[in-house]
Amino acid sequence: MENEHTQKLSRREFLKLIGAAASGLLMAAATANPSFASSGEELPPEEHWAMLYDATKCSGCRECEVACKSYNKLSEEDVDDLSGNTFTLIKLYQSEDGSQKSFRKFQCMHCVEPACAASCPVSALHKIENGPVIYDSYKCIGCRYCMQACAFGAPRYDWSLAYPLIRKCEMCYHRENGPACAEICPKQALMFGKRGDLIEIAKARIAVNAGKYFEDRVYGEFEGGGTSILILSAVPFEAIGLPALDPKPLPDRTRWALNIVPAIFFGVGGAMAAVYRSSKKSDKEAEEKKA
Ligand code: SF4
Ligand code: SF4
Ligand code: SF4
Repeated sequence: MENEHTQKLSRREFLKLIGAAASGLLMAAATANPSFASSGEELPPEEHWAMLYDATKCSGCRECEVACKSYNKLSEEDVDDLSGNTFTLIKLYQSEDGSQKSFRKFQCMHCVEPACAASCPVSALHKIENGPVIYDSYKCIGCRYCMQACAFGAPRYDWSLAYPLIRKCEMCYHRENGPACAEICPKQALMFGKRGDLIEIAKARIAVNAGKYFEDRVYGEFEGGGTSILILSAVPFEAIGLPALDPKPLPDRTRWALNIVPAIFFGVGGAMAAVYRSSKKSDKEAEEKKA
């Protein structure tokens, strides 16, 4: 017991150290993470894996939620928002007078230039060459800057774990048939494919359905620098909880900090990461000995 208490205290002290003593320094380092510049750039964005969600085709059956839980081994829970145990969620929106209704699928948008990865001081989140934004729990120091940086509220903490980790959709990047949610969808409201092809398909739907889609626009083609989850909707995007973003990539808003952050800040972040990883390793070893 005493040992357990000591381990928890050490970790708490470590997080406190980040929060109180080094948060300013790490924030500066976070905005200047040099690894972001080289990630995800081997394939052009039009070749990235992507999904097109057409809210006008969605019946709200939630089979996508079930398939996601099953593939990712997530337990059932009654929530109305994404969580460390819910990577995708279907919500129904309706106007006050009930005249407009639409479903919306929530999940990580797999941004073309992900702010979460740009804000991570230890590159625990990064975009792989074919598009999905993935997470390395071993590198994570628990600072949660990614949660603050994401305009879509996608990264969540899993508080059910002894060591809370960031959890979110990774687009089933290791699954042979692509995302489980897209494969199961019985209404073709979700389509998986290359980003460029899906934008063309979305625009073709808009072209043959005059007046059906909001502003004849595909959400995610340009917003925040572009996303790999593309959305068609009959109702205004903001009415289904999509933020209004100009085309400027979200990380660009803070990239100026690259030029002013001394290298020592990276050293602080790196040292903390090493201490935290070492503490996780010894905690794991202690747990294994107990078992
Ligand atoms: S939606 Fe948020 S978590 Fe997902 S890639 Fe974009 S910034 Fe990262
Ligand atoms: S791509 Fe995979 S992890 Fe992401 S929402 Fe779909 S099923 Fe869930
Ligand atoms: S499986 Fe398809 S139709 Fe059913 S809720 Fe999900 S996106 Fe909508």
